[in-house]
Amino acid sequence: MMCNFIDSINLTKSHKEQVAEWCELVRRTQLLDPSKSLLNQADAEEYSHVVILGAGASRATLSHPAYRGHQIPVMNDFINLPEISELLKKQNIVLTNIEEIYCYLEEKGEWNTINELELIISNEIQNYYLPDEITIYDLLFLCLGPNDCILSFNWDSLLLQARDRVIAKLASASIKTKLPNFFFLHGNVTEGECQSDSEYGRMGKICGKCQRPFSPVKLIYPTSHKDYSSDFAIKNAWEAARYFMSKAMAVTIFGYSAPKSDVAAISLLEKAWGKPKERFFANFEIIDIKPHEELVCCWKSFVFSEHLQSAKDFYDSTIARFPRKTVEAALGNVSGRWIDSSPVSQTMSWDEVLEFLRPVLASNALKNRFGRTAQ
Ligand SMILES: [Zn+2]
Repeated sequence: MMCNFIDSINLTKSHKEQVAEWCELVRRTQLLDPSKSLLNQADAEEYSHVVILGAGASRATLSHPAYRGHQIPVMNDFINLPEISELLKKQNIVLTNIEEIYCYLEEKGEWNTINELELIISNEIQNYYLPDEITIYDLLFLCLGPNDCILSFNWDSLLLQARDRVIAKLASASIKTKLPNFFFLHGNVTEGECQSDSEYGRMGKICGKCQRPFSPVKLIYPTSHKDYSSDFAIKNAWEAARYFMSKAMAVTIFGYSAPKSDVAAISLLEKAWGKPKERFFANFEIIDIKPHEELVCCWKSFVFSEHLQSAKDFYDSTIARFPRKTVEAALGNVSGRWIDSSPVSQTMSWDEVLEFLRPVLASNALKNRFGRTAQ
């Protein structure tokens, strides 16, 4: 059934070949599991775009000239902070991996040192602010829709800064819309929680149940036994990650290199995603400057055959090329109903982006995907 349209629309040869390839894959999947219902266009609004952020995304967001030569620190960069060097010297620690250091301190029961370490990291990373100009993180909130989800491995507050000001800019431009969901998979300096009441919220706020201020969430996890279920805020983030990954039609990995120390995290994402052969129709994209072949190798457990798209920067990604329509763009690859790209450009100002996106943002305020009224 999916092949009928091939000759009915004017396709280039490469498009024809691409559709034929999809059709063959559809046929093969049906043979593998005939009970599996194929992609149902009517249920398309149920699908999501999941964006996974690593350190490279925060660095790309702060690539503004004001930050030249002053990159936001990540994980092992913190070892070089004078306060941390001194702390390690006092404890006679010669390890250079922050998670291994945590592990060592945890085994010795040095909880005060662990708390001190997390406080230094938290204070340092809170010195970083978005420039006034519109950045990649602002565009993430504008270009993804309410069914989509941003999952960040980063501790910095840049994503939350972006969300707050996007809300303010939309209000001043009188644009009503809904923003994507977001969660921090490894904790965040802006997040606090109340362990006894299983409540969490922004640092500086109080727990709604016991009226006590939230405590900071845990930032460092020992490499040898990462447990994402002991901390309420993290457990909640991973439940959301599992949910959104399971219904993702598009995934973008941005600036995250899946380090060996994150093997537990990768395994959880893999399980939620399922077998690549059952996900051959989904769009799996990496924003990274590494060679395409290297990325295929790194993410092969997620990708069917070699169906991986890579973009050298954010503005070349599906998020920037199909704002608020990335799931439709991914579905177009399967159905052959390709949609035209309508990219946001790096040179646009705040006002230009908001005016450019106004129609598509406004459509998300009332309707879900494919134009149906939400309620
Ligand atoms: Zn409480």
